[in-house]
Amino acid sequence: MKLLVVGSVAFDAIETPFGKTNKILGGAATYIGLAASLMNVKSGIVSVVGGDFPQQYLDLLESRGVNNDGIEIVKDGKTFFWSGKYHNDLNSRDTLVTEVNVLEHFDPKIPQSMEDAEVLLLGNLHPGVQLSVLEKMKKRPKLVILDTMNFWMDTAWDALMQMVAKTDVITINDEEARQLSGEYSLVKAAKKIHDMGPDFVIIKKGEHGALLFHEDRIFAIPAMPLEEVFDPTGAGDTFAGGFAAYLVKKEEFDFETMKSALIVGSALASFTVEKFGTERLQEITEGELIARIKQFKDLTTFEVEV
Ligand code: AMP
Repeated sequence: MKLLVVGSVAFDAIETPFGKTNKILGGAATYIGLAASLMNVKSGIVSVVGGDFPQQYLDLLESRGVNNDGIEIVKDGKTFFWSGKYHNDLNSRDTLVTEVNVLEHFDPKIPQSMEDAEVLLLGNLHPGVQLSVLEKMKKRPKLVILDTMNFWMDTAWDALMQMVAKTDVITINDEEARQLSGEYSLVKAAKKIHDMGPDFVIIKKGEHGALLFHEDRIFAIPAMPLEEVFDPTGAGDTFAGGFAAYLVKKEEFDFETMKSALIVGSALASFTVEKFGTERLQEITEGELIARIKQFKDLTTFEVEV
């Protein structure tokens, strides 16, 4: 097992201007695992669900090469449930419900087969839980990627700072980068976050793309311009999953490889937003993915004489 993913496996109920869902399959680790599988990278998830979580969802993950051995099932517990409603512009959303349920007392257990994973992707969870996973690894992974959000900056600052200090690559959105650093300029924000620990800082800007910072180098990509965005849930997680899977595949963790990984992550995320939840991720073919990566290349490559 080369890619170990820690994060929520959940039920989501989503409302967008185009419709709403009942409880469907969601969770950060779910999106990450499915994205990695599209890159033909086998991953393992460490998470927890309740007795109410359908076996069919676990089977779905397993069938995609996402190892479930690290997903603990608390028989008399309830699965984490999140519900959100998007505004008309689809750029912002309100969280309607967060039922933490079995995640409240989550004590991650890493199966032996995953203890020496080369890349550890810590999906959005309490930073104390993220730290404990890192401490339980047999040896430090070659690359630790951290995803986090403003909620943990508000409620678990000290633990978050400890976690960030042990991180190689951090992915956060622009607002979160500003909150974490206290800087409005994203260039200054990235510098400050860099000083907190991570060698690589990725700032996601939703429909405006993403930035990668490393030392004094910056790489920028746009988001794929789509005619319709249906449901942005999980786009950030899909991005992180595709990004990490590409690095695992290449076995290189330098700036140049990360630039390509950014493209792969963005291409995959551009599919996720086309349908509700994980629906689109579940049906993408290899041909579609390759075509979209090529579209990305055409979108961003140009020559200019000066
Ligand atoms: P994103 O759209 O990238 O923010 O990710 C959405 C996913 O994150 C959903 O599938 C939710 O189940 C999951 N999620 C939302 N809030 C939390 C939380 N506090 N802890 C863990 N996972 C969460």
